[in-house]
Amino acid sequence: MDKTAKDWAAELPDGQLFLGGEWRQGTGAEIVSTFPADGSVNRVLSGASTSDGNEAIDRAKRAQADPSWRALRPHERARYLYRIADGLERNAARVSHIQSLDTGKTLAETQALALSAAGTFRYFGAVAETMDDDLTAQRGTALTLSVFDPLGVVAAITPWNSPIASDAQKVAPALAAGNAVILKPASWAPLTALELARIIDDAGLPKGLFSVLPGSGSQIGNLLVEHPDIAKVSFTGGTQTGRALAHKAAEKLMPISLELGGKSPTIVFADADMNQAIAGVMFGIFSSSGQSCIAGSRLFVQRAVYDEFVARLVAATKALRVGHPFDCATQVAPLIHPDHQSEVAGHVNRALEDGATLLCGGKPPMGDSFAKGNYFEPTILADLPNTARLCRDEVFGPVLAVLPFDDEADVIAAANDNDYGLACGIWTRDFTRAWRVGRAIRAGTVWHNTYKQFSISTPFGGDGDSGIGREKGRQGLRAYMRQKSIYTDLSGAPHPWAGPIPGST
Ligand code: NAD
Repeated sequence: MDKTAKDWAAELPDGQLFLGGEWRQGTGAEIVSTFPADGSVNRVLSGASTSDGNEAIDRAKRAQADPSWRALRPHERARYLYRIADGLERNAARVSHIQSLDTGKTLAETQALALSAAGTFRYFGAVAETMDDDLTAQRGTALTLSVFDPLGVVAAITPWNSPIASDAQKVAPALAAGNAVILKPASWAPLTALELARIIDDAGLPKGLFSVLPGSGSQIGNLLVEHPDIAKVSFTGGTQTGRALAHKAAEKLMPISLELGGKSPTIVFADADMNQAIAGVMFGIFSSSGQSCIAGSRLFVQRAVYDEFVARLVAATKALRVGHPFDCATQVAPLIHPDHQSEVAGHVNRALEDGATLLCGGKPPMGDSFAKGNYFEPTILADLPNTARLCRDEVFGPVLAVLPFDDEADVIAAANDNDYGLACGIWTRDFTRAWRVGRAIRAGTVWHNTYKQFSISTPFGGDGDSGIGREKGRQGLRAYMRQKSIYTDLSGAPHPWAGPIPGST
């Protein structure tokens, strides 16, 4: 018989931390995970305290330096990653349900995220065992090599919106590269990371190499960034937090990668396949209820088709099914938290104060089934300039601003007139135009006639206020390694600078 939401809730991690390979009660402040669809409490966790954090770092440092890990060849380390991938696949239904309870995302989405996390571990296992060190072109009498070593203990700090995917994107390459990892998930969705810990533990990873420390950003996050034994921070989250962490990393001269927010433009030219463009624009902004860094939240439509396109888009948006995350018909599920729901409403209200025309949505849906959840209707606002607050600020909710444009130069200038540079979508049948515009837009990822498609083998990251560094792809492994050059003399002779060495024959 199929399990119900209640049956899955009974399987949630039991509120303990995974510290240095052991399950135990944290000694920090309580963290409450609630189900966004009805506000019921999933679990109350005892979060990590500073002393828990210090202990986890100390254990990680020792485990990473231990020859049982340190001396493993890459193909031997890769076996752990394959086992973790198998565990994620075997437990995909469980991971998916826990993530839906933790975040309110639809099961269809969390199922895909769980499987993609498995793919991420498998991919980085394969990268680790196939990535070569470099024999560099010889220019003197020495054999010259460029080799890569692990960094040591890496901290991964992740947001609440797609926990298993963002956790895997950091933990997999960091472990594959031979590091130890401390993962700090967001307080609004801490349970998925604990489930990942169970799977990693079951895969037999040596104790101490991986810890999950739910805790506040200001306490545990800060500790991780400032601690002298943390060799790198890999952060995904808001721009304001990322900027503050970058200052601290600069003080320590520690590498940090930052995957931050976005205000990504989607561009529809008059020659586009309208049905394809409408579906792509809707998926880009309203899937994940807009709680996505790459949400296509600024839509530019060429003036010749603006009225018709927007009318059809609004009609299709009104037909989207807002509903419970466990209902397989649901397209737009609740937002993560009531505070976030209020923030999204605040953005809409400010846009209306700034003169926007509300084309649809704009408020939580009515009805008993929505009363206890953090739902928000898919919302489209028009008649704002590109300089308006709604077109500049990240909303992180199902809210789309639509603007007309005249020609290619006009839309490139408007799309780039923004502090963020994460993603862009272009709909046109003209491939040369898509190429030109795509190259001219400041964005880490450009999609042509599609949106929000991902491949682990293709690098991802942002420019400007959207961050620094790239994740994924083969080079994603190197982001967790230290490069070293080695010169080995081949001449067999003393250096001529020293002249004749007394006593030599
Ligand atoms: P957030 O910045 O509030 O928190 C992210 C993480 O940082 C959490 O674990 C939080 O506890 C921690 N944190 C907060 N303050 C900290 C501090 N002072 N020191 C150390 N750690 C601290 O972000 P959020 O609200 O959890 O997530 C939403 C944001 O994440 C959005 O801006 C979104 O665009 C961004 N995001 C970006 C990507 C990307 O790949 N570019 C992906 C997903 C989400």
